[in-house]
Amino acid sequence: MIALPELLTNLTAGDWLGLSLKGVFVYFSILWVALVVWVARDVVGRTRNLVFQVLAIVLAILLNIFGLLIYLIVRPQKTLLESYYEEAEQKALTENEEICPHCESPLPLEFRYCPHCSAEARLPCTKCKKLMSNNWSTCAYCGADRGNAKKPNHSEKNKSKSANKK
Ligand SMILES: [Zn+2]
Ligand SMILES: [Zn+2]
Repeated sequence: MIALPELLTNLTAGDWLGLSLKGVFVYFSILWVALVVWVARDVVGRTRNLVFQVLAIVLAILLNIFGLLIYLIVRPQKTLLESYYEEAEQKALTENEEICPHCESPLPLEFRYCPHCSAEARLPCTKCKKLMSNNWSTCAYCGADRGNAKKPNHSEKNKSKSANKK
């Protein structure tokens, strides 16, 4: 094995040129591989479409920096994780709301009467008196069975109205 000082003194000007060219080559190879790896990781996080994944990676391998530019333009805007959280958020929002059984407008869980059609849209629990979702068969607050507690409906609303008139 040649010691480093010996190697340096043995190098002629031509060797230096060759060495620096090699250095530049190695540098760009590393950049190139890093870019392909980055694109590969990014595309896997953004789409499950295998064709798109392969295309993006091939593009990065063939065109490198230009492939990256094209990829940045056509890639999906959101990562899979971002879309997942957005969907979950949307789902949570809609789960906290129901629709009025009469006019089908959105009805927050704490509403007893529909603000749009003024119908009694939800009935309280017979035991704890808290408002129950029309989807529950058991009160979520006290565990009482909904039993025969009817769901509010049109005829009932009309009945109570006519009763009020009398
Ligand atoms: Zn309504
Ligand atoms: Zn209850």
